[in-house]
Amino acid sequence: SYRKGGYHAVRVGDQFAGGRYIAQRKLGWGQFSTVWLAYDTRTSTYVALKIQKSAAQFAHAALHEIDVLSAIANGDPSNSKCVVHLIDNFKHTGPNGQHLCMVLEFLGDSLLRLIRYNRYKGLPLNKVREICKCILIGLDYLHRELGILHTDLKPENILLFSSIDASKDPVRSGLSPILERPEGNPTSGVTSLIEKRLKRRARRAVAKISEKRASMGGTVEARKSDRNIDGIDVRCKIVDFGNACWAGKQIAEEIQTRQYRAPEVILQSGYSFSVDMWSFACTAFELATGDMMFTPKGGQGFSEDEDHLAMMMELLGKMPRKVAISGARSKDYFDRHGDLKRIRRLKFWSLDKLLMDRYKFSESDARELSDFLVPLLDFTPENRPTAQQCLQHPWLKDKDSTSSPNESSVEKVNVGMSNLKIKVGK
Ligand code: ATP
Ligand code: MG
Ligand code: MG
Repeated sequence: SYRKGGYHAVRVGDQFAGGRYIAQRKLGWGQFSTVWLAYDTRTSTYVALKIQKSAAQFAHAALHEIDVLSAIANGDPSNSKCVVHLIDNFKHTGPNGQHLCMVLEFLGDSLLRLIRYNRYKGLPLNKVREICKCILIGLDYLHRELGILHTDLKPENILLFSSIDASKDPVRSGLSPILERPEGNPTSGVTSLIEKRLKRRARRAVAKISEKRASMGGTVEARKSDRNIDGIDVRCKIVDFGNACWAGKQIAEEIQTRQYRAPEVILQSGYSFSVDMWSFACTAFELATGDMMFTPKGGQGFSEDEDHLAMMMELLGKMPRKVAISGARSKDYFDRHGDLKRIRRLKFWSLDKLLMDRYKFSESDARELSDFLVPLLDFTPENRPTAQQCLQHPWLKDKDSTSSPNESSVEKVNVGMSNLKIKVGK
């Protein structure tokens, strides 16, 4: 896709916005963009630079994303609402055309990678609780204060805060800015001297960390998960607002990634904020178990959609007839009694039983988690609790501390994390 209308090819050291941002390394990519770690020379911090493909439809999508991200940043000047912050945006012209660029705060790995590092075993429930609180604070802000639906909530679109405050302290975080092109740019000798020293320090810090990790034993995967989970107060932010929309201005009929899609979207009976609550429940389940909640597949004589509806009913009970027949697509899947047309025999398995039988949860853990999740998976969207109501749920009350992820705990987290790194570095 590196052609006219497509991605912009970036090399380490490339400059953007008149030299303000300098590309460091690629962080990721999606259907619309590539995302680079960049050094912001004006503020001496690291940022994530999202460079959109250049064709008209991508530029149009980026303008919409910038609109949404601007509303998010304007409504939350203290940046405490667990949603990614837009720092800047500009246009960049290259050989493939003109690319809209978004400068975002630099975040860490996605929850999907965290689940992978943990070898799909599920995270400790206290960590799941902390992550859920962050996501709910973000959703409550989007829904109640801004009237915005995310419509693509899933582990991949929730990023951890990067280890310590990497955006401000490159040396301790093992990063150091690359201020020149590898083949050499005319920069002052002083810069490159400082640069060499920074790099040496960074290399030493990284070597120490690897030593420490090697001494902890176990496989690479396990060690990665140790680093990411144990002893860290986990905080995260919601990202990727390319599909977000304002309530009342929904355009797309088919929203959400398949596994996180709400039943009213499949049935096309209209949707609102509560679609995000459905995806949130699916995400929380996945964090706790390591498995996706619903993984429908089409089969002989039935579609992926019908399989999906069947799986929902097997776990949550029969869909009320009124809800089942309410959508524009209802007739494709349900008969007039509200029974599925092609999948007749359902194997009911309640969520708490599933958690105990398949995932070996204790009876109380299983009951408490399913008490939290089942109301969010109500087939009647209006019955699902809001993010604000969810934040009051007893399941989120921490077992060993009463703190919630508010601004004062941000301080605590950063202190905790830098302590950790300093210890490792010594
Ligand atoms: P999609 O096809 O998912 O819509 P996209 O082109 O809109 O993709 P994003 O999903 O926003 O792009 O970003 C692509 C990847 O870049 C992410 O999955 C993540 O790995 C990385 N990334 C995005 N934003 C940040 C950030 N603020 N900090 C660090 N990494 C990021
Ligand atoms: Mg994405
Ligand atoms: Mg996107």
